Amino acid sequence: MRIPCPHCGARGVEEFLYTQDAGVTRPKDGGAEPTKEWTDYVYMRDNLKGPRKEYWYHSAGCHAWLVVTRDVSTHEILKVELP
Ligand SMILES: [Zn+2]
Repeated sequence: MRIPCPHCGARGVEEFLYTQDAGVTRPKDGGAEPTKEWTDYVYMRDNLKGPRKEYWYHSAGCHAWLVVTRDVSTHEILKVELP
């Protein structure tokens, strides 16, 4: 899999680190059930097929954080943008 970094061009996936799902929203402080909200945020994912937004870090390149839209079934990269 190759990821087209906006700064460096297309590079092999071994230059990047996957960090987390970019489609989840961090809970706000003071929620009604903070333990459940944080547990859901950290651990619970739907694991659906199709396009997903993910945070990737170009660790062996320009050190940029990227939001990569990737089809998790085919690994096709659909979009790469800066956060
Ligand atoms: Zn880069």
